[in-house]
Parts: sequence; C-alpha cells; structure tokens
Amino acid sequence: MSTGTLNISEIFHSIQGESSFAGWPCAFIRLAGCGHGCISCDTSYAESDARIIDIEEIIRQAVAFRAPFIEVTGGEPLLQPAVYPLMERLCDLGHTVLLETGGFLSVAGVDPRVHKIIDIKAPSSGVCDKNNPANIQLALDADPACRQKFEFKMVLGSRSDYEWAKSLLFEHRLTDSFTIMMGVMFGKLEPQELAGWILNDRLSVRMQLQLHKYIWPPDMRGV
Ligand code: SF4
Repeated sequence: MSTGTLNISEIFHSIQGESSFAGWPCAFIRLAGCGHGCISCDTSYAESDARIIDIEEIIRQAVAFRAPFIEVTGGEPLLQPAVYPLMERLCDLGHTVLLETGGFLSVAGVDPRVHKIIDIKAPSSGVCDKNNPANIQLALDADPACRQKFEFKMVLGSRSDYEWAKSLLFEHRLTDSFTIMMGVMFGKLEPQELAGWILNDRLSVRMQLQLHKYIWPPDMRGV
C-alpha cells in the first residue's frame, strides 16, 4: 500500500502511439503540469486541467483497464515526487510500467524495473537547451540488463533537426546500445521525407509515427 496523492490530468485506455511499444493496448496515467513550453506540445491541456487523486485510487483505475502495459506520462511526470512510489508500487504488483518523460529531469531516481522512454528535444522544439545530458550518461553507464530499460525518442521538425540528431547519435554512439525512436513533428515534417533521410544515411534508428493521431483525430484527448 502506498500513501500520497498526485495531480492527475487523465487516466485512460488507448493504443500506445510513440515508442517501441507502439501498437500495444496500454493504460495511461497522465500527470498534470510541465511548464517546459515545447513549441509543438500536444498535451498543453495537462498544464491546468487536473484533479488530486490518491495513489491507490490511481492504481485501481489504471489496473481496471486490464492492459498489458501501464504508462506514466504527462505533462512532465517526474515533477511530482509521489510519482516514484506510484511506479514502484505498480512494479511490485507485477505490471510492466513505461515512463515517458520530456528529458529535462534526471531519471536516476526511477525504479530500475520501469522502462524509460526519454525525449531528446530537437532545436525546433524551442527547448533543446534544456535537455538533461545526465540521462544519456546514466543510460550509457548502466549495466546491460538496465540498459534495456532505456530508449530515446527524437521528434524532428526539419532537416536541420535531423542533422543535429544525427550528430548527437554519432557523438555518443547511442544506436549501438539503445533503441532510438525517430519521428516527425505532426504537420511540420512529412514522414516520407524523414524516411528518405534515414534510408539514405543507413541510420540505425526506428522510425515512428504518432499512431494515435492516425487512428483518431489528431487533437483528440484521452487517446
Ligand atoms: S515536455 Fe512534453 S508535456 Fe512538457 S511542454 Fe514539452 S511536449 Fe509538452
């Protein structure tokens, strides 16, 4: 039993849309609040639209969907201290837990059983200078079993974003050790263009589309 409360934007059941788990049914716990101000943020409603819920009630609602995965997302989920016991408790209960974080805060305190999907923000996000390099180092320093629990996500809006992403990947040899998900900012860069660049450069990344935006209207909430 965990005590504590979290400020929650929504708890819902959907298809995981943007990670190596894309396509799987998943229960989502979206925590409220972020404040990073990415230009293409598609969950800005999570800034203000929230209610305080007890951890055990959050778990009860998420588990009720009987999904194979439970994802903790935001907003920026790591802003709220009670998110750590929430993830730990979900793991203790035997669930496969995903964390999706904006990559500004360290993931060092996250339960090692949690699969961490960490954004690396590209220049056209407007917040590239806020990326936390400690997360890349933490992943590189992890032992092989723990390394499998990290993946990085890069959402690109232009050719210059792509060039920037490529140099970062080469600098840290990230594709040697991690799944790198690379996608487009919806409406800013055509998937076909990015696919062409990846193929031309023989880049060892996994291209992704935000699946939920193709299944449902792109601005629909709760999916
Ligand atoms: S980190 Fe995520 S939730 Fe926060 S502003 Fe950026 S895109 Fe939106």
